[in-house]
Amino acid sequence: MLVEIKHLKKSYKQHQAVNGISFQIEKGSCVALLGPNGAGKTTTLQMLAGMLTPTSGTIQFGENTNRDFRQQIGFLPQHPSFFNWMTPVEFLQFVGKLSHIPQSKLSSKIEETLEFVSLQDVKAKRIGGFSGGMKQRLGLAQALLHKPELLILDEPVSALDPDGRRDVIEIIQQLKSTMTILFSTHVLHDAEQVCDSVIMLKQGEIAWNGSLEELRGKHTTSSYKIQTD
Ligand code: ATP
Repeated sequence: MLVEIKHLKKSYKQHQAVNGISFQIEKGSCVALLGPNGAGKTTTLQMLAGMLTPTSGTIQFGENTNRDFRQQIGFLPQHPSFFNWMTPVEFLQFVGKLSHIPQSKLSSKIEETLEFVSLQDVKAKRIGGFSGGMKQRLGLAQALLHKPELLILDEPVSALDPDGRRDVIEIIQQLKSTMTILFSTHVLHDAEQVCDSVIMLKQGEIAWNGSLEELRGKHTTSSYKIQTD
């Protein structure tokens, strides 16, 4: 077991965004966190990544109950921000320094990661001129640079055109054999392309947790839509 979450809650003043959810993530699995807008996906992912403090509940990462687990997590936010005047190499040097990657290893890690996300050819161009898909691949590169054990992707393809979606999905498919992935989306089809299991959130609560195969057996796509939208 890589992650175990118990009775996790988060409220924003009176609003209960996440209402006592519990789940586990197996090492090496790819899990989709599926749910409509406002279901509590981002809030859950940000608590996991240590960016938000839960109102109550616990998150255990491996054997580690303190917060050092953040070092083992790569996080791609729903709306990643970049310094548009930088090049990908400059941006990843900045990220690498923040992640305390030793300077002696940083350049080769940057080259390797840019190659992996197919941005080698544009590594010296300004990020400001990049398409949405290229920016998202750069976002993936910053999440991968320190070789995390758990990769958390918050709606990585929701804002992309079909080509951008395909490119990012292909990269995630390649990553599946190398790390544990938690991938949020509001589209079942995206989950089906990359993940083995689904945790479905609805109004801050878990409406379904199981394999994609079981989910397909239980709901047709249309009845799934009726139940989650
Ligand atoms: P989306 O797909 O739209 O990003 P989501 O499933 O990621 O939705 P969250 O962003 O976690 O959902 O939001 C869950 C609920 O908490 C929503 O009702 C949202 O309006 C509310 N919420 C989120 N962040 C805050 C905040 N900082 N202050 C107040 N309410 C918030």
